[in-house]
Amino acid sequence: MKTTPDNSGDVRLSGISKTYGSFTAVHPLDLTVPEGSFFALLGASGCGKTTTLRMIAGLEEPTTGTVRLGDQDVTHLPPYKRPVNTVFQSYALFPHLDIFENVAFGLRRRGIKSVKKQVEEMLELVQLGEQARKKPHQLSGGQQQRVAVARALINHPKVLLLDEPLGALDLKLRRQMQLELKRIQTEVGITFVHVTHDQEEAMTMADTVAVMNGGRVEQLGSPADLYENPQSTFVANFLGTSNLIEAEVDTKNGDDLVLKAGGGKLVLPEARCSAPTTAGGKVLVGIRPEKISLTHADDAGEIPAGRNRLTGKIADASFIGVSTQYVIDSPVCDELAVYVQNVERDGRLVPGADVVLHWNPAHTFGLDAAQDID
Ligand code: ATP
Repeated sequence: MKTTPDNSGDVRLSGISKTYGSFTAVHPLDLTVPEGSFFALLGASGCGKTTTLRMIAGLEEPTTGTVRLGDQDVTHLPPYKRPVNTVFQSYALFPHLDIFENVAFGLRRRGIKSVKKQVEEMLELVQLGEQARKKPHQLSGGQQQRVAVARALINHPKVLLLDEPLGALDLKLRRQMQLELKRIQTEVGITFVHVTHDQEEAMTMADTVAVMNGGRVEQLGSPADLYENPQSTFVANFLGTSNLIEAEVDTKNGDDLVLKAGGGKLVLPEARCSAPTTAGGKVLVGIRPEKISLTHADDAGEIPAGRNRLTGKIADASFIGVSTQYVIDSPVCDELAVYVQNVERDGRLVPGADVVLHWNPAHTFGLDAAQDID
């Protein structure tokens, strides 16, 4: 990762908020994006992610708070005076100019005459060297989006802001472009702040993800941390499928909590519980579907000691190639999801079969049952 001496690619938001009349789109938030990182603002439509991005860009004036880029307070600077550039979903290329001139535009506007070398380098970076003399309408959607990225990077911004840049592409192209954008970011080494509502996209591309909900950052972390250690039902459900089982704290055993769930017991490392852990406290016990193993009830005696267990009956099984997705009805929770790799599949695991679900307690997380389940 390349860094500059003044860390001028750091983005620091302090207490920034945005209200429109009596409606608060973004509640006061503090956020630091380190220079050179790929940062994603992730959330459902209307959660305030675009407004946050637009306040960094200078396209929206914050109601309160400050925006700093490195050591510079840019809160009151117009967009063109900030060392940032934005790529939008609508590529907004100039249709009458060829690709070379689209990319050269920012340099020419600054009065730079000899643009050839820089534009060619930029087109190489986005792998469009061969397309320089084509017009935008002669390129695919993915290629046009790469032109938009090249055009935004040509003036060497410290921070590139991307507002749902892949939203107009079909799924396959989207997946390709996610890897492509990640490669470009690694190569140029500047800060990227990327807005998306697509959790897989954020997880694939970003080093750090801020999950937004109702104008607030609900949780901030690496993709793996958010997935494995969600702190709220919103984050647990937004990032993939979660099984959430109602339980109650019974006792503590060293670093673990022992919880009552139905007639049985579940073990949860206390450090992975964001709910109050006093005896009698209500906890939603979370476990991801792929962390659970399924054993036919006849073989229950073979399950190693020390694993969390639930009994259940297979309600449904869908073969999806590499894995089978089961729906299990259990006395403690209807419709538990379990994903089993097909190399491990037992032919007896069909709808109607009695099974035992079991998993390593270390993969369990605990959420505050007082929160609403989304
Ligand atoms: P999307 O993915 O749909 O763009 P978002 O998470 O980016 O959603 P924002 O565009 O930041 O959400 O909008 C947050 C909230 O602020 C929304 O409820 C939106 O309707 C509202 N909002 C945004 N701009 C304005 C405006 N100029 N005037 C009034 N309300 C606005």
